[in-house]
Amino acid sequence: MQLIFEKSKPGRRAVKLPRLDVPIKTGLAAKYLRRKEADLPQASELDIVRHFTNLSRMNFSVDTNFYPLGSCTMKYNPKFTEKIARMEGFSDIHPLIWQLEAGEKFAQGALEVVYQLERLLSEITGMSAFTTQPLAGAHGELTGVMLIAAYHKAKGNRRKYVIVPDSSHGTNPASAAIAGYEVVVIPSDKNGFMDLEIFKSKLNPDVAAVMLTCPNTLGIFESQIGQICEAAHKVDALVYYDGANLNAILGKARPGDFGFDVVHLNLHKSFGTPHGGGGPGSGPVGVSKKLDEFLPVPRLIKDADGTIKPEFNRPKSIGRIAPFYGNFGVMLRAYAYILFLGKSGLIEVAEAAVLNANYCRVKLKEYFDLPYDRVCMHECVFSATRQKLNGVSALDIAKYLIEKRIHPPTIYFPLIVPEAIMIEPTETESKETLDNFIKVMKEAAAFAISDPQRLKDAPQNTQVSRLDEAKAVRDLDLRWHPL
Ligand SMILES: *Cc1c(COP(=O)(O)O)cnc(C)c1O
Repeated sequence: MQLIFEKSKPGRRAVKLPRLDVPIKTGLAAKYLRRKEADLPQASELDIVRHFTNLSRMNFSVDTNFYPLGSCTMKYNPKFTEKIARMEGFSDIHPLIWQLEAGEKFAQGALEVVYQLERLLSEITGMSAFTTQPLAGAHGELTGVMLIAAYHKAKGNRRKYVIVPDSSHGTNPASAAIAGYEVVVIPSDKNGFMDLEIFKSKLNPDVAAVMLTCPNTLGIFESQIGQICEAAHKVDALVYYDGANLNAILGKARPGDFGFDVVHLNLHKSFGTPHGGGGPGSGPVGVSKKLDEFLPVPRLIKDADGTIKPEFNRPKSIGRIAPFYGNFGVMLRAYAYILFLGKSGLIEVAEAAVLNANYCRVKLKEYFDLPYDRVCMHECVFSATRQKLNGVSALDIAKYLIEKRIHPPTIYFPLIVPEAIMIEPTETESKETLDNFIKVMKEAAAFAISDPQRLKDAPQNTQVSRLDEAKAVRDLDLRWHPL
């Protein structure tokens, strides 16, 4: 059957599909064959192009506007990494070929990329080895906690608890719980650090691990990390590093050097792959030497003659944790991104990310409350408590930003900051873009005083204004509505 596009002629609005009166040999049983023509909408090529182009315009994307969504933000998504991920030599490989003997001959280039990427990530983080199998940050966390559990089991340690600070990303306690641990939450102190005294009081030989994010979700570098690792190791508890936002310290500091035993990274945040809408992701996990033997199978190993092969015979491995070898396209982008930037480029990423966040922090701190007022890393967290006194919430400010064609920062997270507004400008935004954002934030602060209703009525220029967001998530409307 021909595509309707090809049959479309200039000047004709709609084209009928060819009739199915000639039986098509499908090999399917007669009862599965269509008896009537399908009732498909008829439209010309132009109508369809316009439909999808207009739909795409209703979308908000990092390609069109500023996106300072803190923590989980779209960071740098260079276009050249897209090109590399689409190269035929990579994109046309059968996803299972590397497990077959043929892989030794035909998939060596692809295997080399994964093999080298695991080594580059080890070098960047100061870890002993990496697996690139996990398919997201949360999946990396679960893998990491399973490695920790395997370690304790092998040593005959009976452990029950995983400690997390109350500023942690929600996936941390969730991953620990899914892996079978009870979660102990430690409050943050007035500096935004995990409270060291309370931490020490909860630390005992029943604790399997401590999961930390550094810089934490307040954008603050946990300067007590050395002490935390030392105290944990004294009771043989392992220390987990949530490195989803490694862009804050790339090339500057390495979690392995701080004493961390397990690290996960989000390649789809910090290493050149766009994310949003749920995927695809990659959350590789790095480990110190003592956890190496538990890493998921297969491991990629290099023969004396340089051939890369998957190795399955690792008796202490936690087993397989992903189909195939993870999200290869995301790995390709990360590999290209790292090679393109080189060491000096990676350092520049961290410097620009931190500089941009501090620029926003300093320019806005007169207008919004800053609960943890200190030099921040890749993001800064304000609070709209002052505006709230006039009835204006963080949500109202976010809606005003949408009206001004800026993606809102993360709001109401971290949970320990009331009316939180978490801004991550990222390393790649220009001063002009940041200045415009600062201008709009100041406008919002001024409206909160002079005309709070103006913010409550925002956004005024979007396809839909305010949604019942809980309902929108639970009751999706995916039906066709002609424009
Ligand atoms: C995004 C994020 C995660 C979870 O990563 P996913 O890929 O969304 O599962 C975990 N921790 C932190 C700090 C993050 O920002």
